Amino acid sequence: MLRVKPSYFSDTNEHLRKVFYDTYFAPLLDIAKPTVLNNASPSPLVAAINKGKIKYASGVFSGTYNVAISRELSRFATFDKRSNTWKGRPPADVLAAALKAEGNRKALVEKINKQIDAMSAQVDETIKTLSFGLDLPLFAMNDDIAETLPLGIRPTLDRRTAEKLRRDYNDSQKLNVKNWTPEQTTRLRDMVERYQTSESDDSLTDMIMSEWDVSANKAEFLARQETSLFFSKFSMNRASSAGVRRYRWSTSHDIRVRPEHKELQGTIHSVDDPPIVDAKTGRRGHPGEDYGCRCSPVWVLE
Ligand SMILES: [Zn+2]
Repeated sequence: MLRVKPSYFSDTNEHLRKVFYDTYFAPLLDIAKPTVLNNASPSPLVAAINKGKIKYASGVFSGTYNVAISRELSRFATFDKRSNTWKGRPPADVLAAALKAEGNRKALVEKINKQIDAMSAQVDETIKTLSFGLDLPLFAMNDDIAETLPLGIRPTLDRRTAEKLRRDYNDSQKLNVKNWTPEQTTRLRDMVERYQTSESDDSLTDMIMSEWDVSANKAEFLARQETSLFFSKFSMNRASSAGVRRYRWSTSHDIRVRPEHKELQGTIHSVDDPPIVDAKTGRRGHPGEDYGCRCSPVWVLE
């Protein structure tokens, strides 16, 4: 069965992850790195303020409070259950820490916003340098496809075809990175907004790391999707250069198969004429070309 293997796209996945990390996240994490405080043993409340876990503004403390912090707050403030805040006039050392933390936060947000501006400006330069080496997967795919072709048929992969496929693949991935950038920028700006306004006691580093998870997943999605598309094109090219022009559509036979592909099960199509895979848009595609499609072609011999 002709299926996309993880080994086809694992290099691309690594590469995309590195690009996303280096371009968007490494500089942010560097900025968000907590500064070492010289106050050796601050009180639990001051320590929480320094870490940004407790916030203070005009007589109101918000955040999450453990027993030690609550005990300290209760000395000068009263708890308001409804708003989950403590209200009161803090002693000088607590106030000083709160004002300093607030100032640090403002400076940090400003730096982060500047960096987000800079990264979206520099992404075009980054994209120019991208090159996804497909050589090893290309050979592996070629062998795997040959195995599904009739015995004795071994189409040779000529240089020009290989070059063209590789170029198309690279252009598509570059476009994918470019297209992801506005969404990435928006996500990061929203993150800064949440950091500024919400009462979340996550550190900025935690928030950046959870955005990184989203981007890492996106990298894997793009690697898999584009490689699957590539593999389908490559299979059609290999089969047709071996004189095999038709295939039978085969689904992965499980409940995740979308209805439109289920209907294609067993139908026969030409490598030059992919069937409609999306009735709504009329989009056509061979097996594996639709988003997340795990269908495959079974070659039909005349
Ligand atoms: Zn499918």
